[in-house]
Amino acid sequence: MHELPITQSIIRICCQEAEKRNIDKVKAIKLSVGEMAPVIPESIQYYYDIMTKGTRIEGAKLVITIIPIIIKCLDCNNEFNLNFSQYKCNVCSSKNILVTSGTELIIDDLELYM
Ligand SMILES: [Zn+2]
Repeated sequence: MHELPITQSIIRICCQEAEKRNIDKVKAIKLSVGEMAPVIPESIQYYYDIMTKGTRIEGAKLVITIIPIIIKCLDCNNEFNLNFSQYKCNVCSSKNILVTSGTELIIDDLELYM
């Protein structure tokens, strides 16, 4: 259950950003969440709806994009999507693999009213 403090941070960062850019109305906040990030997007959305009330970004739509898990094989440099039933390279069957994408949680942008 990391979603509550994470959502708090997201809202704080976005409010600061809106203030810095001197924007009263934020249309949307774009967030990228890796498939392997330790959060549930639905929970972030739930807390977000409650916790933005009365803040500078109240009413801004939260748009969450899921980033797929990408694995790189360190033996043959093959890059592929993780198949959970088979934790190995799909070309050379090596288990010497590295997760290169899918663990991140990124605020992409604030979409603003012009
Ligand atoms: Zn390989």
